[in-house]
Amino acid sequence: MRQESSSNSLSAFEDLESNVRSYSRSFPVVFRTAAGATLEDENGFVFVDFLSGAGALNYGHNDPDLLNDVTEYLKSNGIIHALDMATSAKREFIGYFDEIILRPRDLSYKFQFPGPTGANAVEAALKLARKATGRHNIISFTNGFHGVSLGALAVTGNRYYRDAAGVPPAGTVFMPYDGYLGVDRDSSEYLAKALADASSGLDLPAAIIVETVQGEGGINAASKGWLQSLERLCRQNGILLIVDDIQAGCGRTGNFFSFEFADLSPDIVVLSKSLSGCGLPLSLLLLKPDLDVWRPGEHSGTFRGNNLALVAGTAALRKYWTNTTLSAEVTKTGNILSEHLRQIAQNRDPAFSVRGRGMMLGLDCGVGKFAEKIVRKAFEGGLVVERCGSEGQVIKVLPPLTIDGKTLQQGLDILDKSVRECV
Ligand code: PLP
Repeated sequence: MRQESSSNSLSAFEDLESNVRSYSRSFPVVFRTAAGATLEDENGFVFVDFLSGAGALNYGHNDPDLLNDVTEYLKSNGIIHALDMATSAKREFIGYFDEIILRPRDLSYKFQFPGPTGANAVEAALKLARKATGRHNIISFTNGFHGVSLGALAVTGNRYYRDAAGVPPAGTVFMPYDGYLGVDRDSSEYLAKALADASSGLDLPAAIIVETVQGEGGINAASKGWLQSLERLCRQNGILLIVDDIQAGCGRTGNFFSFEFADLSPDIVVLSKSLSGCGLPLSLLLLKPDLDVWRPGEHSGTFRGNNLALVAGTAALRKYWTNTTLSAEVTKTGNILSEHLRQIAQNRDPAFSVRGRGMMLGLDCGVGKFAEKIVRKAFEGGLVVERCGSEGQVIKVLPPLTIDGKTLQQGLDILDKSVRECV
């Protein structure tokens, strides 16, 4: 059990930081250092990290090779801020991304660097889809989460966030995600019918935005068939397909992109979170070349494509994506992890279940209060893990993809013990 001491005091945050803070409430210690799959607080207590910066740290904390390139770049006076001027760091990143990620997958995209957050990329994607098609409506899905700035919020389902908007988060029609209507109902049939029926009340949308595995919405993984139906409907109706790969991308489900398993070719892909590989803010829009209808500077921003993040991002591509080792590890570790979670879920009352894909897994505790108790107990025992789902009923298990077997087991043991103590 951790000891509270003055060096771990949270009073500065309670006194000075806005009420809006959230993670510091779930994990009430002051963190100081981190390495790989562990975090250390000011008292020297080490936590296993199954949160991974909500998906921003797929390669763990402070990967030494990535940090080496970042520090060398800093020491060489490499340019850090350049608006969207041409820089060596950006040229290297886009060239490399094209060479080792896009071309081997037969994908052809132009790059747009919006502001550094995921929501910035979603905003840009929606705006571009509307501009390119001349239509305003967007289809999003139940339990979808795409960020909390106004445009992104309009395609986010959760009422807790939507109610905070202050204006109606408009311009979106929500359709049932895969499985929302029950396991034996194909919800894409409803979408197909509504699109085909001129009296359905559905305005022909500019785009459909989808997560192939919903992260914040509860680790709901769409099937290959459902995603392919979605793409087919897009093609048949001249609708753009936007895949939000902000949380599920960068290897989280095994492949670099989460949609590869379904052979999709989205019109727009949004990436952020683990793109820089070490937690530096960076986001990216990949757009089919014929969609590049922007006029110069029409979508702008001061912090587009931060060069330090691009240097780190290039290092991450070089280290993890020039061979298939990481992908294979994710599949292997994901199988081990889901098997352990299934064992933890067994014989619980109420029933627990496990779902997800690759190393993006959820332990559904059925009721939010159980999940909350378990997560709190796990933190006391030394595990950082968060909840998701409409009622916070799902424990979101997202260890770094690079976690070693011993640390993984340590985290699972803490989770197992916490479940047994709470339910
Ligand atoms: N899209 C998805 C799928 C996300 O999971 C998130 C954040 O969790 C976002 C968009 C928003 O990203 P950000 O918090 O960086 O604005």
